[in-house]
Amino acid sequence: MSERIPVRLVETFEPAQQKKAKPSNSLIHTRSFTGLFRTLRLSGAGFLFLAFFGTVWLNWGGRQAVLWDLAESKFHIFGATFWPQDFILLSALLIICAFGLFAITVFAGRVWCGYTCPQSSFTWLFMWCEKVTEGERNQRIKLQAAPWGLNKLIRRSAKHTMWLAISLLTGLTFVGYFTPIRPLAEELLTWQMGGVSLFWVLFFTGATYLNAGWLREAVCMHMCPYARFQSVMFDKDTLTISYDVARGEHRGPRKRDVKPAEVGLGDCIDCQLCVQVCPTGIDIRDGLQMECIGCAACIDACDSIMDKMGYARGLVSYTSEHQLQGGKTHLLRPRLIGYSAVLLVMIGALGVALVERPMVSLDVTKDRGMFRENSEGLIENIYSLKVINKTQQRQDYRLALVDGDGFQLQGKTEISLAPGEITDVPVSVAMTADKPGSSSQTIRFKVSDVDEPGIHSVADSRFVAPLNR
Ligand code: SF4
Ligand code: SF4
Repeated sequence: MSERIPVRLVETFEPAQQKKAKPSNSLIHTRSFTGLFRTLRLSGAGFLFLAFFGTVWLNWGGRQAVLWDLAESKFHIFGATFWPQDFILLSALLIICAFGLFAITVFAGRVWCGYTCPQSSFTWLFMWCEKVTEGERNQRIKLQAAPWGLNKLIRRSAKHTMWLAISLLTGLTFVGYFTPIRPLAEELLTWQMGGVSLFWVLFFTGATYLNAGWLREAVCMHMCPYARFQSVMFDKDTLTISYDVARGEHRGPRKRDVKPAEVGLGDCIDCQLCVQVCPTGIDIRDGLQMECIGCAACIDACDSIMDKMGYARGLVSYTSEHQLQGGKTHLLRPRLIGYSAVLLVMIGALGVALVERPMVSLDVTKDRGMFRENSEGLIENIYSLKVINKTQQRQDYRLALVDGDGFQLQGKTEISLAPGEITDVPVSVAMTADKPGSSSQTIRFKVSDVDEPGIHSVADSRFVAPLNR
């Protein structure tokens, strides 16, 4: 009689792809946890939410403190006004932010994604709403599998109401940075909002609801360009969240009072808690993966297990490849020094540019006619000088020529402008002394503050005369 061979499931290292295969409609239900990194993340996100939702309501000098006034092409920020001519400074600020992000990524991997990225922060907020309305992880899984009934309807409605309320507030706040928030909110509450404003508020409401409520980790995994290229910035000393394989394997359950070495096990008890708290649903024990957003939830979860088991913390921790290989993490390294040096130089240059920023602007447009002879028989050219008072006070300005020997500026040369006023001043320049051999030459205009001549701006144009003079 042939004997049946007993078959049993053998716990092996599954290939990562196989482990991650999930039905396309499956949601990731994360488990609640506490810990140092969660506290840090909540503090960081709380500060950012406060700054985002609160700043828009602040007033400064009688107007909204931070407002990008699209209608007038001006950016107001705490009493300073930036004009389209200043937007090069904004580009410089964005480049500085990009370099700052590069430097931080080289040093500490995806801390931006884990702690401050709006996508992650809003996702955590929406997950909290889910917990409040649908319960803990197990309850949510049960609710998802349950057929539709009154309980499911009420809980789901409550969740989506919370999501929509946060999304609407986010949409309104975002648009409020481009259109004054107080009238905008009033219009929304009284159902009188104009079509364009309403479109953008609803657009950003929908974007928040979709991204943080439904797409979540898919944005990080499939849509975010930063996630794609940041791994090339990593080096062997970059801090990443890693599982200590040498210490953790072989993984397996055991009683609390059993020493791992005595049963041939490592420190990982294979409780799966690190997987259950992961917002992207991956297993950190499979190694560094592109899907890992560096939120450190798995560190908090594993540390709590290590505490319960009486083992040292840090089975999952911030570490570097060098450290995992038994070496030391080098903080100062050429790439990091290079990024930091460029960053410091750029911050310094931006600071100087901001301080030196001319508070009066001058643009010159030459009349399309080439030249003409005036009543005194002098050759003259016509110009239009566009002057902008970029300050918050009324200012008196003087118009003049720089190194204008042989030329005379004619027309209005003293003007007074209200705060933020733009004016066009028509002037003519007459050539009082012949300059033989040249039919066209550079001519420089200057506008300067009457009380503070140091505040000035210059602009060049051409003076055209007949050749044969
Ligand atoms: S593996 Fe850990 S750090 Fe990475 S996303 Fe998941 S929980 Fe966050
Ligand atoms: S939480 Fe720690 S002990 Fe539990 S499975 Fe993850 S690595 Fe192992």
